Amino acid sequence: KCLLFFLLIHLYYRIFRTDVASVTSWLAPIIWEGTFDATLIDFIYKQQNLSIATTVFALGKYTSFLKDFLESAEQHFFVGFRVHYYLFTDLPEEVPEVKMGENHSLTVRKVPSLNRWQDISMGRMEILEKLIENELAKEADYIFCLDVDTKFYGRWGVETLGHLVGVIHPWFFDAPRDRLTYERRPESQAYIPAGEGDYYFTGAAFGGSLEDVHHLTKTCREQMNIDAANSIEAIWHEESHLNKYFLYNKPSKLLSPEYLWRDINAGAAQIKIIRFSHVAKNNADVRPNP
Ligand code: UDP
Ligand code: MN
Repeated sequence: KCLLFFLLIHLYYRIFRTDVASVTSWLAPIIWEGTFDATLIDFIYKQQNLSIATTVFALGKYTSFLKDFLESAEQHFFVGFRVHYYLFTDLPEEVPEVKMGENHSLTVRKVPSLNRWQDISMGRMEILEKLIENELAKEADYIFCLDVDTKFYGRWGVETLGHLVGVIHPWFFDAPRDRLTYERRPESQAYIPAGEGDYYFTGAAFGGSLEDVHHLTKTCREQMNIDAANSIEAIWHEESHLNKYFLYNKPSKLLSPEYLWRDINAGAAQIKIIRFSHVAKNNADVRPNP
């Protein structure tokens, strides 16, 4: 009876959101506030003792974002479920001490410094590929890869789990297709011709099953290597390659921009709750190069 009650509430909410699309043309759900019942799905997923690997990179001055990122994650990110953070940094001594919640743990990995932020950002794909390949097989069921210049403000839970999960970029969720900033030079492997493309996804958050994210990171890494050999770098770096990947490997679940907003102070009618957001940052202050 209880389950039926929850299902009815769930259905009601699905019908309730008429201001946004809650499904793609290939029938993948798009997760917005009001399209799921948190209590119900927590109850369902609790039966499965799942483990979620979560990767974050903080090199150079980006270590200053770690405290807020980790503390806020511990308030909102998969609370009550198993989470293992893998933190990659060139400055392990600057990693703050943050108290982990029950069943949450953090592993710090040292990586070499790089002097171009673009290389740091793109280099994540290969490190993730190798992490999944070499270590995660028996450790985790799902993985999320997140930017560090961010903060959590609301629930990010099991409603986000799926085989291949992309987050709609907060600047383009209501933009027409011709304004999406895909790579438009045919010389790049990230090229998407005019008239193609469904959504524009952020490179700051993506995830899914180990197998699917391994294939994603491997493919993006290979495509970026081909670009490098041809002396071309996609306009938005690995984000461009991610968008190309998602065009031909459709995500099984999309997260609305509630799951990566631009800045806590920016609003939009469709955004009923900001769960995770980029923090305002001065690029010149934190990046090693322009
Ligand atoms: N990053 C880093 N150190 C740097 C530059 C980038 O650790 O000097 C990592 C960090 O995890 C950051 C991600 O790469 O969140 C992407 O870079 P950034 O956030 O600057 O890109 P944006 O979100 O502004 O496009
Ligand atoms: Mn960022």
